Amino acid sequence: MALDNLGGSLRNALRRIASATKVDKPLVDEAVREIQRALLQADVNVKLVMTLSNRIKERALDEKPPAGMNPREHVINIVYQELINLVGKSSDISLKKQTIMLVGLQGSGKTTTAAKLATFFQRKGLRSAVICADTFRAGAYDQLKALCEKQGVFFYGEKGNPDAPAVARNGLEAARKYDVRIVDTAGRHALESNLIQEMKDIHSVANADHKLLVMDAALGQQASEQAKAFNKAISITGVIITKMDGTAKGGGALSAVAETKTSVAFIGVGETPNDLERFEADRFISRLLGMGDIKTLIERAQEIQAEQEVDVESLMRGKFTLKDMYTQMEAMNKLGPLKQIMQMLPMGGLGLELSDKEYQATKDRLDKYRVIMDSMTEAELEDPKIITASRMKRISTGSGTPPEVVRELLKAHQAMQKAIKGMRGGMGKMNMKRLMKKMGPGMKM
Ligand code: GDP
Ligand code: MG
Repeated sequence: MALDNLGGSLRNALRRIASATKVDKPLVDEAVREIQRALLQADVNVKLVMTLSNRIKERALDEKPPAGMNPREHVINIVYQELINLVGKSSDISLKKQTIMLVGLQGSGKTTTAAKLATFFQRKGLRSAVICADTFRAGAYDQLKALCEKQGVFFYGEKGNPDAPAVARNGLEAARKYDVRIVDTAGRHALESNLIQEMKDIHSVANADHKLLVMDAALGQQASEQAKAFNKAISITGVIITKMDGTAKGGGALSAVAETKTSVAFIGVGETPNDLERFEADRFISRLLGMGDIKTLIERAQEIQAEQEVDVESLMRGKFTLKDMYTQMEAMNKLGPLKQIMQMLPMGGLGLELSDKEYQATKDRLDKYRVIMDSMTEAELEDPKIITASRMKRISTGSGTPPEVVRELLKAHQAMQKAIKGMRGGMGKMNMKRLMKKMGPGMKM
């Protein structure tokens, strides 16, 4: 996918945070420096990079992690949020009757995008028409006509008529019954005053609902100058960044979007009429960072850790009942289904890597333990020491489990209780998890 280098460097920065033992100023500074380098190399505007850096630093060091989120996850989450802020909100082009005008320099991908957009709306059940108001470039008419015919899209053009606003007016009239009318315009090799004038003239007759600037992802810093000029002339309502499938850096175009306070509506990811994607800021950043659904993960991690923190508290008070043990094992096992997502994340800090086999074995063991515990009294669960031979027999019969398994459960509990007592004081959540892992399926009794 596009922006591979940027994604790779950003991932490295996040990995640094995820594997840190302590979140402090030097760590945040170093991670931010890495993020800055990555963004600048991808052509993101310096001013924007500085704003983002300052926001991350401030928030990472000032904001307290929300309940259940550890400091590392908190900082990763801040970076993620600020990157989303940087690329801006998603555009609001709805599926309704509307007129769309495409503008941009020559070669940016307007004509291809006109066919892509028409195809996009047709697939959503809206009838599309495309009007060729590019009277400047020889061949523009034939190129667009061929594309439209192939896609079964209504096409309007006037070969030989040099009056672009007139062609636009006639075309919109001819296509008045269509739901989405797309006006393709001419570009120039560079920003020229006659191009800007032509856009204004077409705009005044087209009166489009959306004026979308089409920009090549390979544009560097000059993207911003272009966006400003078009914005000044016709107030653009959104941007389409094309050629995101290439090795382009993309940061120039993204910066231009941020600077003109518009938003990215679509991205072009190939040459065929189907290679158009709606732009969603959070999905884009997640993908860029190679993260699955980071939001879900962070929410899950929050829930699970909240549960575990309660247990750790009770452990610290010196009690570790059978119920505590069960809750711990259960909490740990809940992470199992998340394993795949977690592998995609630079969150080694969660410190949990159960293999499928281990996960299944832990789950089987838990199921057995649950049945056994269901046959115990409250008093026994609180204080297993009172379980005498006769009680053991009753529990075994009641749960339909061989006495060895009941003994195994009690032994595991004793071993853990002992280990916890030994560790008290220096015990953290991670130790607890490591211990649980040791006590897991591979444990010898
Ligand atoms: P226009 O001058 O702005 O109308 O640009 P065109 O639509 O004629 O496109 C110029 C070139 O860019 C053509 O060769 C297109 O096939 C190519 N192009 C447009 N969009 C994309 C895209 O998203 N990905 C790739 N790889 N090529 C694209
Ligand atoms: Mg064109």
